[in-house]
Amino acid sequence: MDRTTDDRPVYVIGAGPGGLAVAAALRRRGVRAVVLEKSDAVGASWRGHYDRLRLHTTRRLSALPGMPIPRSFGRWVSRDNLVRYLETYADLHELEIVTGVEVSRVERAEPSGQPGSRGPEWVLHATGGRRLTGRAVVVATGYNHTPRLPEWPGLPSYEGEFLHASSYRNAAPYAGKDVLVVGVGNTGAEIAVDLAEGGAARVRLAIRTAPHIVRRSTAGWPAQRSGILARRLPAWFVDRAGAVLGRISVPDLSERGLPRPETGLLSRARQGAVPVQDVGLIAAVRIGRVEPVAAVEAFKDGKVVLTDGEHLAPDVVIAATGYERALEGLVGHLGVLDERGRPLAHGGRSPAGAPGLYFTGFTNPISGMLRELAIDARKIATALARTARTARKS
Ligand SMILES: Cc1cc2nc3c(=O)[nH]c(=O)nc-3n(C[C@H](O)[C@H](O)[C@H](O)COP(=O)(O)OP(=O)(O)OC[C@H]3O[C@@H](n4cnc5c(N)ncnc54)[C@H](O)[C@@H]3O)c2cc1C
Repeated sequence: MDRTTDDRPVYVIGAGPGGLAVAAALRRRGVRAVVLEKSDAVGASWRGHYDRLRLHTTRRLSALPGMPIPRSFGRWVSRDNLVRYLETYADLHELEIVTGVEVSRVERAEPSGQPGSRGPEWVLHATGGRRLTGRAVVVATGYNHTPRLPEWPGLPSYEGEFLHASSYRNAAPYAGKDVLVVGVGNTGAEIAVDLAEGGAARVRLAIRTAPHIVRRSTAGWPAQRSGILARRLPAWFVDRAGAVLGRISVPDLSERGLPRPETGLLSRARQGAVPVQDVGLIAAVRIGRVEPVAAVEAFKDGKVVLTDGEHLAPDVVIAATGYERALEGLVGHLGVLDERGRPLAHGGRSPAGAPGLYFTGFTNPISGMLRELAIDARKIATALARTARTARKS
């Protein structure tokens, strides 16, 4: 299949949807790609998500290049079916995947400058002292790499159960318990609803900034399609239209402790906070099964202290406080990250001074990340196939 004369592979780090999509797109263009995955299977992050999770993007708009998601999986694909899709995807495209290999550092080896030199070279340091050399590297290690926990003062003094949302699977262990979920992104909102439906005695949801809540679909029109359209429109317009639609489709829950957001929908999304898809939160807040409370400030004397001064004593605290990209150790020394640790370029472009280094999956677009991963995969493969052709001609 490899039609280039350059026998050094492109290394793709991570066998999540992003890495698999790039590897498949490269293979279709005749470029050899080797995927390195630290866990023991593809789609590791999806295998670890909570049980009730379904895609909030549609089946059709979530497929990776070269294989649709089967119609039998329904419009909103379940976690287990997405994992099945990723497994089949890797098999169908005959991807070269090496599991159990964690890459710790990526370095650029200077080209020798000798006649016959084959352009930039990248060295990957990986588990077991491995040193792998490739002609390009695609970093697909995931937007949700390392659970983020705020440094709350006094947290060690808390004697109840404390966990990050990444460890939550289902409501069974929390039946009859008083639970505080911290953070109202999509994950926090859905876990709060899952707990309320699954028999927790009391569920409170600590909210720092009131979120935009959107219906997953309205009269058959998925919110994702609006997200795709919104990206092409000016922010002021989307913000205003979003506020009007929000007032029509979402009841005012201010009296229940969930006010309408102050910042516009697209403006917030551009700051990194995508709207919360309603999978039961509105109804649960309305009937008091999920109680919004102020943000968490600290832990003191075994209690949780909120920013409005209230003290709570839940049995369990679940921190749905997001994830870090954690790219610093891998590529931070290359000067390719911004001050927030995000890649300076993504998709088909390499950061300045790092030709042959690509990133995919490090944005959180309202158009759906899987859709964006598919688009980036094609762009990266096109860019790499072009450099392979140029190298062959010279
Ligand atoms: C709860 C949740 C629900 C989501 N729902 C949707 C949705 O409905 N629609 C949508 O479009 N998007 C959704 N997303 C966002 C996104 O599509 C997923 O997070 C998706 O899995 C991202 O794919 P990825 O390949 O970029 O990263 P991941 O799936 O996280 O894959 C990264 C892979 O890299 C491996 N890895 C990491 N570091 C290394 C290393 N150093 N060496 C080797 N391997 C490494 C990991 O083990 C992992 O397998 C959701 C995200 C979450 C967290």
